[in-house]
Amino acid sequence: MFKNNFAVRRRRARLFADCVGIGYAEALRRLDDARTGAVGHQHGSPDLTFLTREPYSGGRIVNTDFAARLVAAAQSRCRHCLIMLSVDALDDRPTVAAFSGRALGILPKAGRVRESTARWAALARRVYGDREDSAAASAVWEAVEAMDVPQLYGLLDDALTLWAIAGSPPVVIHHGEFGDGWDGGPLYQVTVASREDGGHRVPVLALGHEAGRAGLAHLREVGLPDWDWEGPPVMDPKWELRVSRGSRALEAIVRVDDEGLDDIVLWKAAKLVRLSAGWWDLLDRAQHVEVGGPWAPGAPEAPEKVAVVARVTFR
Ligand SMILES: [Zn+2]
Repeated sequence: MFKNNFAVRRRRARLFADCVGIGYAEALRRLDDARTGAVGHQHGSPDLTFLTREPYSGGRIVNTDFAARLVAAAQSRCRHCLIMLSVDALDDRPTVAAFSGRALGILPKAGRVRESTARWAALARRVYGDREDSAAASAVWEAVEAMDVPQLYGLLDDALTLWAIAGSPPVVIHHGEFGDGWDGGPLYQVTVASREDGGHRVPVLALGHEAGRAGLAHLREVGLPDWDWEGPPVMDPKWELRVSRGSRALEAIVRVDDEGLDDIVLWKAAKLVRLSAGWWDLLDRAQHVEVGGPWAPGAPEAPEKVAVVARVTFR
């Protein structure tokens, strides 16, 4: 029994040493520390059962309870649990694939991640963009199978960072219909997101193409100023995001005229989508939101963008 446990400990320490680029003795010490530090920890268990429906795992079984523990540890920023669970995760590639695909597939650009993660994210985006594309789905899973252990650990680590930031997976609100609306105005999909700005987090709504006239030219036409996605966009009190306190959902993005009347209704919710508690708190604290685009999950990165800081009206 003891011998067996020791073999397991040794194997885990070797994997961990390879993954983070430290010596074996140091890895053994850090794992022992983490094991002691994590005793009795419970960090909540978010409902991640939807991961079983994600197309990134090649149809393999996904352990959603395990994924939930990982997310909870990441969101609690508990390094003891994160070390222990991350090393365990190396033996469960389907779960790592589902978990990472959900975080990376939805983003138009992988951002600051490892090179191997960025390559994989491009595959995940293809699958996210078209779930019927079985060749893309095979490719994304085969790429996970082909990763060496440090690459797999890197993928998991990058995905965990995204999950910890987002608090929950990004929410994309689509219209029921495609193309331009009955009044000729383009329909946008909205991605609920946030970004880091000068050490604090700000809420962001990204407007993406649905179809028809939606896009950069139209967003400029309605008066959204150009923006380089670096510092904060300009604030314009004429732009307003309306949200419902009762249902905790987005209602509309509008521009009002000098009399305070609706001038342009840029986006109107076609259905009620309840926002995560984390994003709602962010909005409540900030009382403002960055509205910009074009930016849509799965779409190629647009070279130019527009954005404005809008005020939030709670109703
Ligand atoms: Zn913990």
